[in-house]
Amino acid sequence: MIPANFNYESPNTLKDALNLLSAHDDAKILAGGHSLLPAMKLRLAQPAMLVDLGRISGLSYIRESGDKIAIGAMTTHAEVAGSKDLLSSSPLLAMAAAQIGDTQVRNRGTLGGSLAQAHPAADYPAAVLALDAEIVANSHSGERVIPATKFFNGMFSTALRNDEIITEVRVPKTRPLRSESPEFPRSPIALMRWKTPFVESR
Ligand SMILES: Cc1cc2nc3c(=O)[nH]c(=O)nc-3n(C[C@H](O)[C@H](O)[C@H](O)COP(=O)(O)OP(=O)(O)OC[C@H]3O[C@@H](n4cnc5c(N)ncnc54)[C@H](O)[C@@H]3O)c2cc1C
Repeated sequence: MIPANFNYESPNTLKDALNLLSAHDDAKILAGGHSLLPAMKLRLAQPAMLVDLGRISGLSYIRESGDKIAIGAMTTHAEVAGSKDLLSSSPLLAMAAAQIGDTQVRNRGTLGGSLAQAHPAADYPAAVLALDAEIVANSHSGERVIPATKFFNGMFSTALRNDEIITEVRVPKTRPLRSESPEFPRSPIALMRWKTPFVESR
């Protein structure tokens, strides 16, 4: 349960973070750390360098942008779940965020980290696919906008290159949802934590 040795950098700007990524093939981005750090402790991931996005200002926000809502990659699940803009204009993502883990996970885990992780049981991937969201990735070559339908290659696999950082996710404004099933968890991770109501209620 002890990670392999690694170097740690905590740049103040996106440009510095991109410089570090392009200079070190074996570097990995650290966001909330809720998926990466457990993997490192089990030595399933052994990056030589962590580039922590935590000190970079301007990556955590939720704001209207024309007919879309733009969300910074470092926005936490708790911020997504509690966003009035999302709840009124595009509630699906906020509803998915509210189902994630527990309070600690929602306070640390980030939208960008969860999408980059592409865990098959995660809550956000299905939501961004259903919403036809766009994922904005930055690198030294500039910015590219990846439709959610082209972003996920498979389990734990995305269209992101090693030198790219997700900076923003854009979701279209939708009508408020007319029906939902709030008692039923949306992801297998939530199911694992779910008590067995069908059995208990009989
Ligand atoms: C106890 C527990 C319960 C959980 N329950 C749920 C659940 O019910 N539903 C659910 O969906 N998830 C759940 N999770 C996962 C949680 O949502 C994580 O926060 C999320 O998967 C990863 O986000 P992070 O910010 O912690 O990313 P990190 O762990 O920091 O990074 C994950 C990966 O993404 C990369 N990355 C991070 N940010 C970026 C970026 N901006 N650009 C490019 N790459 C990036 C990293 O290099 C790494 O490979 C749970 C986690 C824990 C520990």
